[in-house]
Amino acid sequence: MTESQKHIKPASPDLFDHDKPEEACGVFGTVAPGRDVSRLAFFALFALQHRGQESAGIAVDDDGHLTAIKDMGLVSQVFKEQTLKSLSGQAAIGHVRYSTTGSTRWANAQPVCLNRNGHTLALAHNGNIVNTAELREIMGPQGIKLTSTSDSELLAALIATNPAEDIRDAVAESMPRIKGAFSVVLLSQGTVVGFRDPWGVRPLCVGKLEDEHYVLASESCALDILGAKFLQEIEPGQMAVITDGKLELRQVVEPKKRQGFCIFEYIYFARPDSVINGLNVSQARNRMGEELARESLVEADMVIPIPDTGTPAAIGFARASGVPYGEGLIKNRYVGRTFIQPDQNLRQHGIRIKLNPLSEAIKGKSLVVVDDSIVRGNTTQKLVRMLYDAGATEVHLRISSPPITHSCFYGIDTATNTELIASEKTVEEIRKQVGADSLEYISLAGLQRALGRPAEDFCRACFTGNYPIDIPAELKLSKHRFEQIEQDPAAKEPADKEPVA
Ligand code: SF4
Repeated sequence: MTESQKHIKPASPDLFDHDKPEEACGVFGTVAPGRDVSRLAFFALFALQHRGQESAGIAVDDDGHLTAIKDMGLVSQVFKEQTLKSLSGQAAIGHVRYSTTGSTRWANAQPVCLNRNGHTLALAHNGNIVNTAELREIMGPQGIKLTSTSDSELLAALIATNPAEDIRDAVAESMPRIKGAFSVVLLSQGTVVGFRDPWGVRPLCVGKLEDEHYVLASESCALDILGAKFLQEIEPGQMAVITDGKLELRQVVEPKKRQGFCIFEYIYFARPDSVINGLNVSQARNRMGEELARESLVEADMVIPIPDTGTPAAIGFARASGVPYGEGLIKNRYVGRTFIQPDQNLRQHGIRIKLNPLSEAIKGKSLVVVDDSIVRGNTTQKLVRMLYDAGATEVHLRISSPPITHSCFYGIDTATNTELIASEKTVEEIRKQVGADSLEYISLAGLQRALGRPAEDFCRACFTGNYPIDIPAELKLSKHRFEQIEQDPAAKEPADKEPVA
């Protein structure tokens, strides 16, 4: 990739009618001497690709010598056979990213690498820190000059500047100071440390490979691809230290009474084959569809999903309502982020780049159309139009999340409050705007019933405005708040490969 390419932004997701909240990141870590650790990281990141498609990176420790490769693009675009071969070692961490804090640029790709006590640490973060101003003050004049606009580098700098000799102590002393959502893996001198905020906002789990080596990953689907056995979630406020064949779990910060696991992980973000807190994501979505059917039954000829994320809820809706399930929209499964901009003509048909109606299946039928969420509403309007054009006689929209009325500050890009259609309009106004015959959302109580756990276990702030972790006023202004920070000129000309320490 040339220097100029590095700074090209991927085409706006809107061009491809992607009206969904954007997931933040996926992380992975392992210590597995004798194994090809970069290949383990590659396939784990491959399984976690849904959690971030803008950049990918792997850092490997080879007898204390750390090398990191990261770039813009999908995992399979960033890493080729030769690249992986150049990343040999005994321990590795990896990261896939969608920008949350900080804009889309190379310097914000992870893992972040910083010098600490003459060694290098690499860090990969899923979430969003809310007390960044306070952390800058804590580090004060001894703070490291930051090279990126991401809060993750700030987090790495906090740990790097901690005077404790042992990396575990540096992490343990730093954790209580960090406020916000963080599921982190860190690599330093052959040790991988994973840690999670005391609210437990983002997932992080640990598993064991067949050869007894341990792995950490955002979701259990990444363990499955490696043949690793799921052991447990890293609990809120817990730290997991992995060395050669050993796992040490330490409760560093008391878990908060009012927990904050992101309920949207179950609705949309996590992969359906992942199991989180003992609940399979696909089954959770089936149950959301069943609840939705009980709450808002309608007479129709067929239930169809907006694929793929609407599919499990549509199956549940069909099961509970007795209305037959069918496919009415075909998704191009290979569509991802692209650097190629469509021309004006293609732009007009943007939605068909991703979804195309099966006219033969839907012509002359009244449809229940199940989707997981509506963010801005622009795509939904085009979808409804497309279904009528393909011959549907009625379109009844059923949404397996409650209306999204508030922005997320914990690592998800849900757009600003004013861009969220449900923050400005009633359900009936939205129905009129998107042009459907009827529109119903699952209720918060119905969602809770589907998950079988109390509301206090979850963050549901994008539906209620009740944020489990206080949000400083300045943070509410913009996710690009670090853009004004003076940049280290060296950061503007990054090398593709970072050989460090
Ligand atoms: Fe998840 Fe919404 Fe809470 Fe963000 S605000 S963590 S998207 S539930």
